[in-house]
Amino acid sequence: MKKWVLSGSAILNPDDTSEKVNIQIENGRITLVSKKEISSSINITTRGIISTGLINAHDHLLGNYYPKVGTGNYVNWLPWDNDLKSSPLYQERSQIENRDLYMLAAYKNLISGVTIVSDHMPHFVAEPYYDILPVKAIREYTLAHSVNSFALKWGDDIDKEYKQAVELDIPFITHVSEGFDSETVQDIVTLDRKGGLGDHSVLIHCLAFSESDMDLVKKKGSTVVWCGDSNMFMYNRTAKIKEMLERKINICIGTDSPMSGGENLLYEMKFDKKLYKKLYGDELPDETIYRMVTVNPAKGFRLYDSGTIKEGNIADFVVVKDRGGSYINSVVSANLKDIMLVVINGLPAYGDIEFAELFDSLNIQYQEVVMDGVEKAIIGDLKGLLRRISRAVGFKKQFPFMPLEF
Ligand SMILES: [Zn+2]
Repeated sequence: MKKWVLSGSAILNPDDTSEKVNIQIENGRITLVSKKEISSSINITTRGIISTGLINAHDHLLGNYYPKVGTGNYVNWLPWDNDLKSSPLYQERSQIENRDLYMLAAYKNLISGVTIVSDHMPHFVAEPYYDILPVKAIREYTLAHSVNSFALKWGDDIDKEYKQAVELDIPFITHVSEGFDSETVQDIVTLDRKGGLGDHSVLIHCLAFSESDMDLVKKKGSTVVWCGDSNMFMYNRTAKIKEMLERKINICIGTDSPMSGGENLLYEMKFDKKLYKKLYGDELPDETIYRMVTVNPAKGFRLYDSGTIKEGNIADFVVVKDRGGSYINSVVSANLKDIMLVVINGLPAYGDIEFAELFDSLNIQYQEVVMDGVEKAIIGDLKGLLRRISRAVGFKKQFPFMPLEF
């Protein structure tokens, strides 16, 4: 793979912002970060802010559709799932090939600056799609659907799944404490008893945590994923984020699928910031939110060479428009329009048309599209995908998370 250099203002990690930095990319990795000019035949300079690629810590790619389904105020996920599966919208979605739903979800993530997404789904469902998606879905994980007796059978026994995660040093992912029935509120104690709670556990939702649950999660070193919009829509409550931050629990942000949750990660960050303010009266600092979509998920999902811009790490970037405030605020407040370039494994996947030169220089095929009124280059055939989806359902289906002319 050709060597190339990306120059601009860079956020290296939440604590270390550097200005006017040059990043050399070679064979998918960052091989040099320097204030000094780096010579290269391909040198791309941007006025945007270069951030490490965003990590969406919870999604169900197969379930990416729109609008939301449900009445809210559920006691746990099961009645929502029943409402979903008996809805006309579910019938509509069922007419679409799984492959196309996976691609739609992956593009949704890509255009919002996400380079890595955790797709919480059994491996046999997701496996056929990993290699064709325009973003990276985390491939190495073990899982359970949830902890309670009515959990979907997504994995082996919890102790086996967790043990395997430790042996392979990969995450063990499960929904936890998603609801308020007498069984679900005991989830964390049950999970611990079943041998599934430890530093390899990634716990999704965690709505009904008690003080002692949070103490136990901190003690065990587990990671928590916050899906604020999904929680508020389904339960009108969310996780005790402030109390967990005070305990220094590793917290990440996930969208969940847009049939219950946020449209994309950009929307979710803004939603969660507002929600926090509403619940606690305090500002959730941009730096904290930024950590929740970069270094925290890299830690929780054990992605040791992702989550920051540094030599040796994988070259995953999102370049966002400078909004004039702090660099981190430009990322946390970005809208779809502001995503100027997304680079995955050292190659451009999506960007403003002014970056077409980069796609051409690296021999990356792209399609020209108009996204939210802005001309963009994107890998693959997104317009064809949207047309296929519309043909499958019999009308022009449009998604707020994909404002594309097709
Ligand atoms: Zn979920």
